Amino acid sequence: MPQLFDHAPIAPCPGRARPARRGVPQPSDDLRAKALEVHRRLGAVFGLPIPYFHSLDPLSELVSSLLSHRTRNAESGRAFKALRARFPDWSDLVDADTAEVEALIGGVTWPEAKAPRIQQVLRDVLQRHGGLDLDFLADMDPEEARAWLAAIPGVGPKTSAAVLSFSTLRMPALPVDSHHHRVAQRLGLIGPKVDVGPSHDLLRAQLPADWSAQDLYDDHEVLMLHGQKTCHFRSPACGACVLLDLCPAGQARGA
Ligand code: SF4
Repeated sequence: MPQLFDHAPIAPCPGRARPARRGVPQPSDDLRAKALEVHRRLGAVFGLPIPYFHSLDPLSELVSSLLSHRTRNAESGRAFKALRARFPDWSDLVDADTAEVEALIGGVTWPEAKAPRIQQVLRDVLQRHGGLDLDFLADMDPEEARAWLAAIPGVGPKTSAAVLSFSTLRMPALPVDSHHHRVAQRLGLIGPKVDVGPSHDLLRAQLPADWSAQDLYDDHEVLMLHGQKTCHFRSPACGACVLLDLCPAGQARGA
């Protein structure tokens, strides 16, 4: 893994200050600069841009994201394929026998909760939009689209951001999964008590307001990959980490 400690941190650009979102504390210039430096160094390690791993329509991405909560990618992928094979038209899933849906997605965590929730979320989309598709979100401002999704019970900040970012909508949004969250916390980008949900707005606010969908996707992906490959949950490999000089947790472990 290349060592890239010799570069000066990227200075924050005052012209890119993100307008304050109600209730979201705005980050200091130091925190913005640190977030950019983390992005730059991890981008050099993993190579940017990161290819998109999905090209699902937004409604399918919503189903996929609801399946993936606290579940390994391989298992949620299997469950998604099983659902798709049984219900090529999502409208057939809405009123399907919930026990059958639960059996089809049996490999994910909490299938007994996810099966009825997915069906209810589809009903909510149908009721609010009048049809079972989410392509209309492309005509909205990203924040407006995220709010539309987040108003559906059971759709949290990660799911709404994932639908906008990972689906064919390719809209600018920053999903935060457990790896991304853990790395951000150890680096001090967010506080030790900030949960995954509230971390979305805080981490997004540290990045330039005019970043593209690909930029934000890249940021999520490189922090997630770093969490998977180096900053492991139990034994982070701090000695091999390109972020050690920026990381209070890593330095404390060394001390
Ligand atoms: S120095 Fe250690 S704790 Fe900090 S980001 Fe790197 S691997 Fe994680």
